[in-house]
Amino acid sequence: MVGVLVKCSKCGKHVEASTIIIGKNKVITCRNCNSQSNPAQDNKPKIPPKEKYECVDCGYKFSRTSESRLASRCPYCSSLRVRPYVGRTANDLLNEIDEV
Ligand SMILES: [Zn+2]
Ligand SMILES: [Zn+2]
Repeated sequence: MVGVLVKCSKCGKHVEASTIIIGKNKVITCRNCNSQSNPAQDNKPKIPPKEKYECVDCGYKFSRTSESRLASRCPYCSSLRVRPYVGRTANDLLNEIDEV
């Protein structure tokens, strides 16, 4: 038994009524259209947020993803004394280093 054909309001194709998806405002879409519009948001590659770091020894500023294991090492002088850079002025940082 052939099912009732319903016109998809997105692509205009006639599809079996059992396969349609009725969305908001009774908008009828076929499976094809529905699967195309939905996963776009889920499939977005997650880009880990980059964080800024600063080398305490040489003052070199660099940004790394927090997931990176190299985040704790200065790419310039290989110093391990690296800390998150919070955007303070160079003078503030110099004063802090002097106090330590
Ligand atoms: Zn469609
Ligand atoms: Zn350094």
